[in-house]
Amino acid sequence: MPQRSIFSRLFKRKFIFSTLLPECFFITILMKTPAIQKLQLERRIISGAARDIASIELKLMLEAAKLGMTAFRNNHCDGALSVGAIITDAQYQIIATGYSREWDSLPDDPRPHAEGIAIAKALNKLGDNAPRLGDMRGSPMVVEPRKRTVLPEGCIIFTGIECCRRRTQSTSCAERALRAGISNFVVGMREPNTLVEQCGIEYLRAAGAKPTQRISPEIYAFVCAANPHITFPPFEQCII
Ligand SMILES: [Zn+2]
Repeated sequence: MPQRSIFSRLFKRKFIFSTLLPECFFITILMKTPAIQKLQLERRIISGAARDIASIELKLMLEAAKLGMTAFRNNHCDGALSVGAIITDAQYQIIATGYSREWDSLPDDPRPHAEGIAIAKALNKLGDNAPRLGDMRGSPMVVEPRKRTVLPEGCIIFTGIECCRRRTQSTSCAERALRAGISNFVVGMREPNTLVEQCGIEYLRAAGAKPTQRISPEIYAFVCAANPHITFPPFEQCII
């Protein structure tokens, strides 16, 4: 029996040398070819870039969620959401921010939401000869005709809670953002269906935009703390 075992081992060794080693040698040579090395490098760069993008977007989403807390602390309103919004350019440089009830009104909106305020600021900031709106409380009393009505390509809007789709008094935030040329939407959580029917994300998808979710326990905690009147589902169930 031991002889058989030795034979078996020798056979295996022979099999390895005769069959697998040449293949391993061939694969090793292939892996060192410039084309494969370039492909491997590109893959590393892409996966690294994806990690970087996720990390940057999570940080910006956290800031948007904190702005929601600012809305809650500064000007809490019973029954209304406290949300924060941030608009960046394609390189993630912040253009404008907004939070619920930061301004009392806009010329085309008697009760602007966080996204509407951020969009108005961004449009005016990037417009030629745009009036300085400042960051003071209250609406910009005089808004001159805007030179720019659409933001530069690639702008991104971050909102702690998805943009609303339906409003009775004014244009919804989702529609307002699309009209402003924003096609990149990063959302923290869905709007609870206790307030309105959840449809902001579906509307954006139907319009050709690709909303992305960035959520973490910290972001979730800020959004919940800013809206204590709402019962949000557990964190695990908030993943879209
Ligand atoms: Zn809204």
